[in-house]
Amino acid sequence: MQDIEIDVLVIGAGPSGCVAAAHLQNKGINVKVVERSEFPRFVIGESLLPRCMDHFEEVGLLDAIKDYGFEIKNGARFIREDTICEFDFSKKHTEGYNWTWQVNRADFDLLLTNTLKKRGVDITFGHEVVDVAFEKDGTSKTTIKYKKGEQYIIKAKYIIDSSGFGRVLPRLLDLDKSSEIPEHSSIFSHVKEINRPEGREGTLITFDVIDKDCWLWVIPFSNGKTSIGYVCKNEFLDSFEGNSTEKLKSMLKLSKYYYERFKDADFLFEPVTIKNYSKSVKQLFGKGYALTGNSAEFLDPVFSSGVTFATESGLLAAKLIAKVLGIDFKIIDLTSVYNKFLEVMEPIVKSNKMASANLKPRIRMTTLYFQGQSMGNYLIAGTGNRTELAIGYFTKYGDGGVDFEPLGMLYKKEVREIARILKIPEKIILKPPSPGLWVGQTDEGEIGLLYDTIDEILYRFDYNLGFNGLNKEDIEKVRKMRKSAYHKLKMPPMYKIK
Ligand SMILES: Cc1cc2nc3c(=O)[nH]c(=O)nc-3n(C[C@H](O)[C@H](O)[C@H](O)COP(=O)(O)OP(=O)(O)OC[C@H]3O[C@@H](n4cnc5c(N)ncnc54)[C@H](O)[C@@H]3O)c2cc1C
Repeated sequence: MQDIEIDVLVIGAGPSGCVAAAHLQNKGINVKVVERSEFPRFVIGESLLPRCMDHFEEVGLLDAIKDYGFEIKNGARFIREDTICEFDFSKKHTEGYNWTWQVNRADFDLLLTNTLKKRGVDITFGHEVVDVAFEKDGTSKTTIKYKKGEQYIIKAKYIIDSSGFGRVLPRLLDLDKSSEIPEHSSIFSHVKEINRPEGREGTLITFDVIDKDCWLWVIPFSNGKTSIGYVCKNEFLDSFEGNSTEKLKSMLKLSKYYYERFKDADFLFEPVTIKNYSKSVKQLFGKGYALTGNSAEFLDPVFSSGVTFATESGLLAAKLIAKVLGIDFKIIDLTSVYNKFLEVMEPIVKSNKMASANLKPRIRMTTLYFQGQSMGNYLIAGTGNRTELAIGYFTKYGDGGVDFEPLGMLYKKEVREIARILKIPEKIILKPPSPGLWVGQTDEGEIGLLYDTIDEILYRFDYNLGFNGLNKEDIEKVRKMRKSAYHKLKMPPMYKIK
């Protein structure tokens, strides 16, 4: 595989990496995500907090998650012996969401990555970051290993390390620091519920506190499966005999509240044990990189904060990088202005297809001049190139009404070549050019000639080279277009007063 050069490399496609990549993509920044596993993959961290809804919403992932039908979480319950304490998220004193979800992370993370891929985010699975070398200016060369040990390099201006417990940069840059939180273990699995009670009791996320340092979580999913797991001191877990299935079975007996519900349920996979999961780092960022999610720090599962910290930090890092790299842009929907204009004009003049179509670029330019002037004497840059200008493929006082044309002396072909030098993504370079005035409109379709052909003919006109080997009809067509475009490139004619 060939080496790659991009703006931002995101390591890991968990929630942190996905939110970071989504934001960067939204800002038009060239981002690539490299993920070690093939998805779906198991990962723990299944109960979310309402705050992360804001993050998913801000980067445009929330609707896809809503459509999936995960179990709604609108509170949580804590039990200790006979005391039951239930929190209802709607009884809060701040703005924002009062509900969220309980999710099977394999499905959830797959959904996030699939949604991003549909939006064109470049995610590569089964590729592992094995080494990173930073230059003095913060740019980096990351070594990626895939298949049977084959490697390639990704050069990036910035790295967002969202590698979770993979902790890529903390390991490689010696940033690891012991957590101040006492060492704990966790043992967990999923069960297919056979005794799930009806209604809220069956779906309510609960923490059953057995002792000061020992508690059971019960997180029901909408697919009828439930996540159960214990958090306890290392010595406590070690005091149980047998393999992990036997240990978790014995530990379930400690829960007076839940033992009956789960005593006959089979584990859907051999219970997983994680020890000493609280992590910290000496620094959260450095020149050319930021650590997010678990790669930065993980506290403890008790208040389900892991995914939310992961998305919060992923978004924060992406915003900072976008600020440095990105072009600030605003989307202004002019549909209502366009419709209103036609409505006002309707009784006065009957418009035709071209008049209505050309109205769109003219409203766009009016908007740009309004904005430029409002912000204080800004100039309006045009996007027209030599080929479009020469044949008049632009709207007079529409996209042609600008203060300067930076690409105006470059043939279409040259614009594409420069785009490749600037590492503009190939999908943008190869996208069929279109003024976007009606559905399905493309420049070449409407003109009836390929840009390569027009470029060649124009070049020969411009440099008086003769037309040997070119189609006569094509030459005639371009000649006519050049002639009829003349008025678009000139000041309006005036009487000359001697
Ligand atoms: C016992 C326990 C219970 C928990 N319960 C909860 C809970 O209920 N709610 C909650 O919000 N959080 C919980 N968490 C925390 C939660 O698991 C994490 O905080 C969350 O998954 C972090 O997301 P992330 O995107 O940072 O990392 P992850 O979701 O772990 O994603 C990191 C990705 O990086 C990839 N990766 C790793 N190394 C490399 C590499 N070298 N190259 C390329 N890719 C790599 C991994 O394959 C992985 O897909 C719990 C944690 C533990 C330990």
